Formats: sequence, C-alpha cells, structure tokens
Amino acid sequence: MHHNLSIYNSLSRQKELFVPLHPPFVGIYVCGPTVYSDAHLGHARPAITFDLLFRYLMHLEYKVRYVRNITDVGHLENDADEGEDKIEKRARLEHIEPMEVVQRYMNNYHRNLDQLNTLKPSIEPRASGHIIEQQEFVKTLIANGYAYEVNGSVYFDVMEYNRKYRYGKLSGRVLEDLLANTRTLEGQDEKRNPVDFALWKKATPEHLMKWPSEWSVGFPGWHLECSTMSIKYLGEVFDIHGGGMDLQFPHHECEIAQSSAALGKESVRYWMHNNMITINGQKMARSLGNFITLDKLFSGDHPLLEQAYSPMTVRFFILQAHYRSTIDFSNEALKAAEKGFQRLMKGFATLNKLVAADKSTIDVAGLWKKCYEAMDDDLNSPVLLSYLFEGVKYINSVSDGAETLTVDDLESLKKMFTTFVFEILGLKDEAEGNASEKLTNDLVKLIVDLRQEAKKNKDWKTSDRIRAELREAGVVLKDLKDGVSWEME
Ligand code: ZN
Repeated sequence: MHHNLSIYNSLSRQKELFVPLHPPFVGIYVCGPTVYSDAHLGHARPAITFDLLFRYLMHLEYKVRYVRNITDVGHLENDADEGEDKIEKRARLEHIEPMEVVQRYMNNYHRNLDQLNTLKPSIEPRASGHIIEQQEFVKTLIANGYAYEVNGSVYFDVMEYNRKYRYGKLSGRVLEDLLANTRTLEGQDEKRNPVDFALWKKATPEHLMKWPSEWSVGFPGWHLECSTMSIKYLGEVFDIHGGGMDLQFPHHECEIAQSSAALGKESVRYWMHNNMITINGQKMARSLGNFITLDKLFSGDHPLLEQAYSPMTVRFFILQAHYRSTIDFSNEALKAAEKGFQRLMKGFATLNKLVAADKSTIDVAGLWKKCYEAMDDDLNSPVLLSYLFEGVKYINSVSDGAETLTVDDLESLKKMFTTFVFEILGLKDEAEGNASEKLTNDLVKLIVDLRQEAKKNKDWKTSDRIRAELREAGVVLKDLKDGVSWEME
C-alpha cells in the first residue's frame, strides 16, 4: 500500500510528507457551518474537499476519526465580537426559537451533503453542547495569564500571548500592523487592546442563548468552541485541522493562540485550507444577489441558472479543480462538468461490456501508479481525473478493437475505476437513482390509467379507493377537465 501522501501545510507553507502522530490512527478536525441559512456552494467545497481526504486516508487503511462541528451559538455578525448572534437574528426574523433555526438549517445542510454523497463525520459536536468544557478552557487561560475579565466578559490577551508566541503566524499577519490598522469600535472599550478577542461574553437581558458562569450569565466566543472540541475529541495534539481559507484569520489564528496558551504547545500538526468559489468572477455575497443555495442549484430555480445541475455534476465540478485553487462558477463551467461526468460514467459502462483478449496492449499497472501519485501529491484530484479520462480513452479503443486487454488487466481496470471514481472521489452513477424514479413514475401512471378506466365504467367504488390509497402513499391526484394530473408529496 502507498504511504507517500504529502499534503500542503498552510502553517509551514509547503508540502510535507504526511506522517500521523499515532498510526494507524488519524484525527481530523474541520470547522463546520454556522447553521443560520440554507447551505450554499461555499458549504459544498470544504465538505467535498475533506470528504476526499477522509475517503483517501481510509483507503490507505488508516483508522480515521473525522470531527466536524456545528456552530450553533456564539458566532456574531462581525468578527470584532460585536453585533447580534447570527442564529438569534434569524430566530427573531422568523419568530421561532434559536434552536429551531439550528435544527432547520442543520437538517438542510445534512440533506444537501447526503445528496453530494459525502460520508458522515465520525463525530459532529455542537458548540452549545460543550458550554462547561469551554468555561473550563477559559479558566485555564485566565490561570495561565493569557485572559482577563472585565464586567463579566473575558477576553484573550493578544499582547501578552505575543510576548512568548507569535500571533499571526498562520495568516502571515504581523501584530504591529494589526495594531496600527485595527480601530477601537464603540462599545469595545472593555478590551485592553482592539486585537483582543472574546472568550466569554456577558449577555444583555434580551439575549436568548445564555448560560450561567462564574463571570456572568453569557455565552462563549466563536473561536473557543473549536479549540475546546478538537482537543476534547482528538487529544491535545492531533494530526489535521481543516477549513475554508476564509477561516485562517481570525478564526484559526485565534484557535492556535488559545490552544498554545492553554497547553504550552501547538495542537495541530497539519493545517489544510480549501480555496473559495467565485461566481462569474465575483465573490459570493448576499448583497450581490449571487448567493446560490444548493437546493436552488439542484432544482435550477435561480435567475443566474440556465438549468438544474445534479449533485454529482456539482461534486465533479468541485473535484475538477485542486482544492487550493479558486473555482469560478458559471453556467458554461457547470455544463462542461456535466458533460465530463457523463463521459466518465459512460466510460465505466463501456468498460463493463468489454471482452478480454489474449494479450494486453495497455499498461494498466502504470495507470494505477499514476492515479496514486496524483492523490499522494496533495490530493490532486484534477490530475487524477485526467488519468481516469486516459483510461476512458483506452476503454473506447478496446471497444473499437484498436487495443486489447487480458482478463486480468480488464479486471484490474474495473477495480481501478471502482476504487478511484466511486470509493475515493465519491462520485456515483445518478442514472441508477433515475431508473427507480422512472419506475415509480411508470407505476403511478399505470394506476392512474386504471382509475380512469374504472371511472369510465362508473365503478366509483374502485375509483375512490385508488384515489384514497394513492393519497395514503403520498401521491395526490387532481381531476382536471380533460384527464388527471398527480404530484408526489
Ligand atoms: Zn472552527
């Protein structure tokens, strides 16, 4: 088995050979979403990137514990510890409980991720379920001299931290520059320094999500949950921490500061960050009207979309770029991805129909090796796909009689496709799902036709019974002037 995986470490800014701390065990922590709106393209990319890592490490026979959190408290509207909690704000707008907001959008996120065929993480902890652990973490930081309390709130002392450690080393920021460029906002005079960040915030009386603590009735700061939960589930030092590049600063920078200040050592051995998705060359933003949720992408129901794009087209589209490159979303690019994905699936279908010959004219073992080399090179999925398409070209040549494969090589090529396309890249043939959908449609149509016949024969009993039982099964019939229409609930 290959164990030459190298990954780009955002902290050292170079590719490093991946050597787990305690092989065969590997711990991965990935920052999950703050669940206050429907999942969009920006959620799909980290989910798929770290799913690829998870799948590949398991393929290499590591025992992986993949932890991806859900942020359900403490993420304020701006990064300077001010503004409303994003979830509370949505709860006020929708007149529901904050935890209803969390449940609704977490369900949406999970459903979309299932559609994208990402594997579920081993543990999916929520910030609100770890309030006591977060408070204990704050106590350690205060005891170590890196945090201070003011009026019931507790802040991290960046200046003090920077005396011993270097704040800004992940994002390449220098504290002096940060100090020169950070203004003290109104209402932030509690902080000794504008670059300090909240560990615990005293809640205002109207604040909804709050817990008692020795400092005040309040809530934890956003950065704290990830330090707390990663260490709780993966140990003081663990292998890989991932997330989107936009989280490098301040979120991950603050995580490094918190963990180092609490433990006196670095927690994370390899930092991995996926790049962003732009839409027609622009940053995705609600204010620009180019915010496309995954539901809309899959249904095609958005002014920017010329058609619907299936979950596997979207997955293929994301895997077509290396995770550290930006991807620009456009209808042209998505349509090209759709074609590419279909060509790959067609290639696999053809492969399963090929007939073996006495000798091989194709170097299948060499192709396997190249596929592994691509994955070992910092999960280079676009290069892997180019080799798989080389495979499709061979398949078509064998199908045309221009090349030949022995029985063993034919089996090996099938195994190669199954391994890389389905197991590691996590793609799946959507035609299978369509086939069962088509069968359902055909069957309902048959039943509806039989009911029409019963009505024509004035057999009202049968006709009513069919209508009622279809209703029970979730199919609603609507009698029209000429004929009948139906829809699934
Ligand atoms: Zn995080």
